Amino acid sequence: MSRILITGITGQDGSYLAEQLLAEGHEVHGTALRSDEAVPGATLHSIDLSTPGIAELIRAVEPHEVYNLAAISSVFGSWQQPAVTAAINGVAVAEMLAALRELADSGHPVRFVQASSAEIFGIPAEVPQNERTAIRPTSPYGASKAYAHSLVNVYRTAGVWASACILYNHESPRRPEQFVTRKITASAARIALGLQDRLELGNLAARRDWGWAPDYADALRRAARAETPDDYVIATGVAHSVEEFVAAAFSRVGIDDWRSVVSVSDEFLRSGDAPQQLGDSSHAREVLGWRPTVDFEGIVAAMVDADLEALR
Ligand code: GDP
Repeated sequence: MSRILITGITGQDGSYLAEQLLAEGHEVHGTALRSDEAVPGATLHSIDLSTPGIAELIRAVEPHEVYNLAAISSVFGSWQQPAVTAAINGVAVAEMLAALRELADSGHPVRFVQASSAEIFGIPAEVPQNERTAIRPTSPYGASKAYAHSLVNVYRTAGVWASACILYNHESPRRPEQFVTRKITASAARIALGLQDRLELGNLAARRDWGWAPDYADALRRAARAETPDDYVIATGVAHSVEEFVAAAFSRVGIDDWRSVVSVSDEFLRSGDAPQQLGDSSHAREVLGWRPTVDFEGIVAAMVDADLEALR
């Protein structure tokens, strides 16, 4: 049994990861911004990562593994709060890695896994992307994640056991509605039940490599248990457009003529939006034995069905 610290434990990824680690019998601690949230079976520490404090918590908990999942997670939101995004997604990671370096130097090595992001590649010149694709972010979110990604490599070279999983978009019924997939499935469910009239979206042509969030939590666990620390692209290797997601979600609720209820608004367009993200996860598949277990159709169906169920 290990003692494990997850930052951002109440988020989509943190909650799935905590459930998986608790099922393995580990002692799980987690940080959350608010003190009124809970993850059954885990010990919560209420801390704001935009201010110093995570190093002290790491020294107090003395974990064997740290998973850094706390973040301003929305690319769109990062344009509204670039400085807070830099503090939480970037500076806090520097504080964590410095603390882990001290612990390693004093004979207490800790394994660290960073939730890195496909957004570090910005508008990728290369399709599909892999661990060697040029890092050229095009949003404050991508820039903050690129800084943290570089730090992981810097501290790995300095002797800290630190890995980075370059996660492509991963979805589930726990995805908040600020992300396009959940916005679509929640709206499709409400429209089908007569609770909403229309849905406004941004760039319908954007293609994303959408995976199933619990599979990505599994990848993080596998990265922490690998022989050596490394970088891994975690992706399905299949891309679909936002429009294809819309069509699949509306078809699931019995609306084939989705164009009659969906429109495009400039409000949801963004600067630097990658036309296509597609990841090559061969390295993770070979070294970690990881593979996605739910395909695009399965993800859409699970999310739409959960939204319909919650409304009925
Ligand atoms: P993220 O970009 O990784 O944070 O994930 P999102 O789910 O927010 O966005 C995925 C893609 O959907 C991006 O290319 C967006 O430009 C596109 N998109 C199109 N319409 C919308 C919308 O109404 N909301 C959001 N969040 N994204 C949209």
